[in-house]
Amino acid sequence: MTGKVYLVGAGPGDPELLTLKALKLLRSADVVLHDDLIGPEILAFVPSSTEIQNVGKRFGRKRVSQCEIHGLMIQNALLGLQVVRLKSGDPLIFGRAGEEMEALRQAGIEFEVVPGVTAAFGAAANARIPLTHRQVSSALILVTGHHAATEEFADWPAKIPTDATVVVYMPGYNYANTADQLVRAGVSNTTPCAIVSQATSSGEQVHLTTVENLPTSPRLPSPTLLVVGEVVRLADAAALYRQLAWPGDAAGFATQNPVLSAAQERAE
Ligand code: SAH
Repeated sequence: MTGKVYLVGAGPGDPELLTLKALKLLRSADVVLHDDLIGPEILAFVPSSTEIQNVGKRFGRKRVSQCEIHGLMIQNALLGLQVVRLKSGDPLIFGRAGEEMEALRQAGIEFEVVPGVTAAFGAAANARIPLTHRQVSSALILVTGHHAATEEFADWPAKIPTDATVVVYMPGYNYANTADQLVRAGVSNTTPCAIVSQATSSGEQVHLTTVENLPTSPRLPSPTLLVVGEVVRLADAAALYRQLAWPGDAAGFATQNPVLSAAQERAE
């Protein structure tokens, strides 16, 4: 009998953010094929008798090709095995799940997608950034800074609406270029940004800045993502100030939001 492949999201890092379904599958799988970003605490849920293989591709340095990953999933399923293809965050967000589902479909292999908490949601939750806000942000745009395979900067929407929150996955460290791209897409220089490093892990760090000051931001340890938008001003600045080296008046950052104050005045 043919096995089945589960494309499973492992969440952003904190093992407690795994879904119950993911946990159940990790405990019962015959084979686990995982990406680089999957930490040891999550792999610890896999019984020692289960075959675990890291098929991750470090940025620009290929270890196992995408084609080989397809082959591994298909071969194991044809052997009748239950395969967990474990990806960080959510499998359908910048996770190459599209290509993998296509390969499985063509091979006639049954598969299921198990969603996970995407990095943007984990980062926003910990930094207390509301990604949407009735008065400040009515859209959420997820973009990738780079194409993983080529390391090239990705094309972004030509025009980013002023009331949108943008989350940049794989932002890299060329913040000057990122700031340029944002401004070219219509984002104001004064828009606040948060660089969130290793979100939801014990090493999490957040750096708050603005688009114009992005180029002088520190290189925080990867993985990082960048949240851009007026909602960043609503981050729990006081908590972040206590926790992190962040110069300036934390309370001021949180309250000096002209967009929010104007919207609140209109609502009153
Ligand atoms: N499928 C994943 C994204 C994979 S792309 C998801 O839904 O989250 C890999 C990129 O995700 C990284 O370069 C980084 O930008 C982001 N990322 C993943 N985990 C992260 C974390 N714990 N903290 C910050 N960024 C993270």
